[in-house]
Amino acid sequence: MSSVPKTMHAAVTRAWNDIRIEEVPVPELDPGEVLLRVGACGICGTDLKIVSGVYAGSWPPALPFIQGHEWGGAFQPQLVLRLRALTRASSCSQAMAR
Ligand SMILES: [Zn+2]
Repeated sequence: MSSVPKTMHAAVTRAWNDIRIEEVPVPELDPGEVLLRVGACGICGTDLKIVSGVYAGSWPPALPFIQGHEWGGAFQPQLVLRLRALTRASSCSQAMAR
């Protein structure tokens, strides 16, 4: 089983028309969120508009901003194991006790 890395690569918009590939911390999860390992991410026309500031004032909410909303990935193995453990329970109370 692989562990969750501390950092990841990201396309970061630092300023309008200034996008860089950087090593950034893997985000902490809030309750109800799931961590996925991104295998690939595309850059679409909307990303190019965001980088150039076309939506400045409405999107992104602040800079620096991590680009990329068209991606594919997979569950982290640890989370898949936890989901399997939860599905073995025969009732919600058994699942919640795990
Ligand atoms: Zn898009």
